[in-house]
Amino acid sequence: MKRAVIVGAGIAGLATALRLGRDGWHVLVVERAPGRRSSGYMVNLIGPGYDAAERLGLLPALSASQLGLFTTVLVHADGRAKFTVPAAIAEAALGERAMSVFRGDLETSLYEAARDLADIRFGTTVVSVEQDTDRVRVEFSDGTTEHADLLVGCDGVHSATRTAVFGSDFVVDSPYLVAAFPLDHPVPGVPESSATTFIGPGRTAAIVNLGPQRSSAFFTYRCADPGVDLRRGPVDALGAAFGDLGGGVPEAIRHLEKDPDNAYFDAVSQVVMPRWSTGRVVLLGDAAWCVTLFAGHGAALALAGADHLGAALRRHGDDLPAALAAWETGLRPEVSKRQALARRGMLQYAPPSRFHVWINDLTMRAITLPGVSNLVRKGIERANR
Ligand SMILES: Cc1cc2nc3c(=O)[nH]c(=O)nc-3n(C[C@H](O)[C@H](O)[C@H](O)COP(=O)(O)OP(=O)(O)OC[C@H]3O[C@@H](n4cnc5c(N)ncnc54)[C@H](O)[C@@H]3O)c2cc1C
Repeated sequence: MKRAVIVGAGIAGLATALRLGRDGWHVLVVERAPGRRSSGYMVNLIGPGYDAAERLGLLPALSASQLGLFTTVLVHADGRAKFTVPAAIAEAALGERAMSVFRGDLETSLYEAARDLADIRFGTTVVSVEQDTDRVRVEFSDGTTEHADLLVGCDGVHSATRTAVFGSDFVVDSPYLVAAFPLDHPVPGVPESSATTFIGPGRTAAIVNLGPQRSSAFFTYRCADPGVDLRRGPVDALGAAFGDLGGGVPEAIRHLEKDPDNAYFDAVSQVVMPRWSTGRVVLLGDAAWCVTLFAGHGAALALAGADHLGAALRRHGDDLPAALAAWETGLRPEVSKRQALARRGMLQYAPPSRFHVWINDLTMRAITLPGVSNLVRKGIERANR
C-alpha cells in the first residue's frame, strides 16, 4: 500500500486525505492546532469549487449548513443606506451551482468524510524532511518518524513545509490586511437576511445578519505597514481603521473584544512558485499558490487541486514524476488566472480613490437593472470556465 503524509488538516489537507484515502493510500495527516476549530469566515463555492465539492461527495453534508444568499445594502460611512442589491439579483448572477458556507462547516464536512480513511494527529507538526528516490522520511514533533511515498504540504500561506523544502522566496506581500469573524448574534443596524457593506477609499466593512450563529463580519483595508497592525491585534487595528464608521460596525468590533482569537486576521499575500513539487514532496492549496480572498476561489482551488492530484496519481501509477508534472500542468492556468483576477479584485475591496468608489457604485447599481443580472451571470460563467 502506498503511504502519504499530509501536513495541515485545513481544506486542502483534508480534501487530499479524503481523495487519497478513497484511492487506497495509507494516509497520515498532522495538524499543528491542538484540535478541530469551527466557524471562521464565509466562503463561496462557485463554478469549479462547487464542481469539486460535488466530485468529493460533500454536497449533501454542505447543503445542511448552507448560509443562502442575502440582500446587500451598500451604506454610507454613517450607516445610512445608499442603495440595495436584492438577493434575487445575486442568485440570478451566480446561478444554481453556487453555495455559501462557513469555512469551519466546509472543514467539518471534509473531516467527517476523511476521518475513517486517514490517521489524523492534532497538536503535531513536522520537524525534518529528507528524501531520496525511493522514499521521503518525515520526523514529527511527537518524536515519531514516518517513511512515505509522498509528502503533501497543505499547511497554508505561511507553510513551514514550503520553507523547509523549497526555501522562503515565494510570498508576494501586498499592503492590505483582512479580518473576518463570526458573530454569535446579529448586530443592531443590519436588517435580517442582509449584509450592510461600506466601501470607501482603501477599505471595506461588511456585516452580515443571517440570524444567531450564522452572522459574520468582514473587514479589509489598505495599510502602510501591515506588520505594525498585525502586532497591534485585530481589535485595536480595526478600531483605528474603521472607528469612524456607523451602522453595525462599532458593535461588531465590540463583539470581537470578547474573543479576539476568534478572528481571522492576517496580511493579504499571494504565493507564487515556479514549481509545486520536488521529488516526493508536493505543495497544495494556499501553501503552493495562495490566490488570496480577493480571488474568492482559494478553498475551491484547494478542493479541485486535491481531487485532481488523486486523479493524476491514479492515472500514472508508479510514475510519480509524471503524475506530479501532469497535475501541475493541468492546474496552473486556472491558478494564474485567479491570481491575476485577485490583483484586480483589490480595486473593488479597497478602491484607491473616491472616483473608484463612485465607479464601483455605478457598476453595482447597474447590476440591479432589469436584464443586466443575466449579462453579469454570463460574465461570471465565462470567468469560471
Ligand atoms: C476572509 C476570507 C474569505 C475567503 N473567501 C473565500 C471564498 O469565498 N471562496 C473560496 O473558495 N475561498 C475563499 N477564501 C480562501 C480560502 O479560505 C483559502 O484559500 C483556503 O482556506 C486554503 O485552504 P488551505 O487548506 O490551503 O489552507 P488553510 O485553510 O490555511 O489550512 C492550513 C492548515 O495547516 C495547518 N498548519 C499550518 N502550519 C502547520 C504546520 N507547520 N504543521 C502542521 N499543520 C500546520 C493550519 O493550522 C491549518 O489547519 C477566503 C479567505 C479569507 C481569509
